[in-house]
Amino acid sequence: MNKATLENGAHNNAHNGKVWLVGAGPGDYGLITLKGLAAIEQAEVLVYDRLINESLLEHAPWGCEKIYVGKQAANHALPQPQINELLYQKASQGRRVVRLKGGDPYVFGRGGEEGVYLAERGVPVEVIPGITSSIAGPAYAGIPVTHRECASSFHVFTGNFKDDERGLDFANLARLEGTLIFLMGFANLNYITRGLLAAGKPADTPAAVISRATTNRQRTACGTLADIEERAAAARLASPAITVIGRVVECRPQLNFFEPRPGRGVLVLRDARQSGVFEQKLRLRKLQPVCCPVIRIASRGLTPAAQSAIERLADYTWLIFTSPNGVKIFMELFKAAGGDLRAFGRLKFAVIGRATEQVLRGFGFAADFRPAKQVSDSLGRGLADVLQADDSVLLPRSAIADNRLSEILREKCPVNDLPLYDTHICRESAAELKECLAGAAYVPFTSASTVDGFVQAIGGAEIAAAALAENACRTVAIGPVTAKRMAELGLKVDLQAAEHSLDGIVNLILADIGGENHD
Ligand code: SAH
Repeated sequence: MNKATLENGAHNNAHNGKVWLVGAGPGDYGLITLKGLAAIEQAEVLVYDRLINESLLEHAPWGCEKIYVGKQAANHALPQPQINELLYQKASQGRRVVRLKGGDPYVFGRGGEEGVYLAERGVPVEVIPGITSSIAGPAYAGIPVTHRECASSFHVFTGNFKDDERGLDFANLARLEGTLIFLMGFANLNYITRGLLAAGKPADTPAAVISRATTNRQRTACGTLADIEERAAAARLASPAITVIGRVVECRPQLNFFEPRPGRGVLVLRDARQSGVFEQKLRLRKLQPVCCPVIRIASRGLTPAAQSAIERLADYTWLIFTSPNGVKIFMELFKAAGGDLRAFGRLKFAVIGRATEQVLRGFGFAADFRPAKQVSDSLGRGLADVLQADDSVLLPRSAIADNRLSEILREKCPVNDLPLYDTHICRESAAELKECLAGAAYVPFTSASTVDGFVQAIGGAEIAAAALAENACRTVAIGPVTAKRMAELGLKVDLQAAEHSLDGIVNLILADIGGENHD
């Protein structure tokens, strides 16, 4: 290609470039819009901030360029003019750019500035609004921002005056009847409360500070205008936080559905993308999920081995899945490799357990074999009885799976043990994990690799055992393999599920708590 055509190409591409300003919601993984998620799924460039739920990034397609431009308080990772220019540059290369922002992009998110900068340069901009923390944060703390009896309006202010020397007009604020909501104001809480008091707002006006709202580390302090600062400090709340002032705060005792109740917190060690089902099961039974991912699943992508296995799929007779992730990632790869569904025609499917079977069902395939006990030995032995010498097995699974299963099967027929995904330990979660343990009465382990993940993420077996003891957490193993791994690492096993599934764990915990387990 000569230079002229190259430039031409670039020029033509520029017409396709576009920026979507997308609200990611306040932190809870589920609080993004369908449209927002669809935008992420088709992004070529993803530019994101600090306050978004990072599990959302995993929805970006392979090859998507992910750029972090978040800010830590005063320490700007990338100054705003450079963010504007970055968005412009990427879009003018003809790329689909998603600018993912916490909450709603136009609520103190500088989305307006970015949009105008792009529009002035001829780049098309579309906004996908998000659920703002200023409303959802209070809601998750049991505080409606309006209520017919006490607040017929709500007002959202910034409490950060670094960029704005004007400060707040307290005389005006104190006169408002509606709910007052302050974002970015945690460091200035004293200035806000004193200003309102001095302007005549009654000292007994109810007030609340909600920290890390809608995440599983959400904490709330309640009090009055006179003492909320002290109470927030006593509760050791931290930024990001929202301050709410007004009588609506009094609804909290009735409407607080989200924060951990004593004795019913259950630690969930999966990342949000995989823990949704577990979280729902827990909430339905009035248990409180406390989520702290210790392992993160990362697909290896379309490796040459995966590509060739998929191309030769029709040559296999059995396809064996040992986890729901294995099914999902294999199907994604199949699609990415341009596979033809008819290649599955003759294949038989084996799954390790119900959860994997369900995910497979979701793709329209029934399992031909599932062992009575959900452990890989049962799967191996059961299948060995069924397999013939002229069978050929494809076993797409985790890269860290042990060899026993494939060894058992290889005694019968050829097996292609295909590593699909890696399991990374989230070592950066140690402090968060310790904090979560304080709010968790139960710590269930759903696999041996989760036990390893937990121990490594917290900083070692001794630290893990000590943290469990210190917080009087009861541990639960999903089955014997998991329990064995716990024992090997010196962790106590308080409970072991008879039914090796999430339901088995939930039922066991409810039985342990006593009462309420009526179904
Ligand atoms: N566009 C965002 C707000 C950005 S300003 C929105 O609509 O929510 C950043 C401020 O929002 C933080 O300083 C904090 O006051 C608030 N905030 C955002 N997410 C929060 C969360 N999960 N918990 C508490 N406060 C949050």
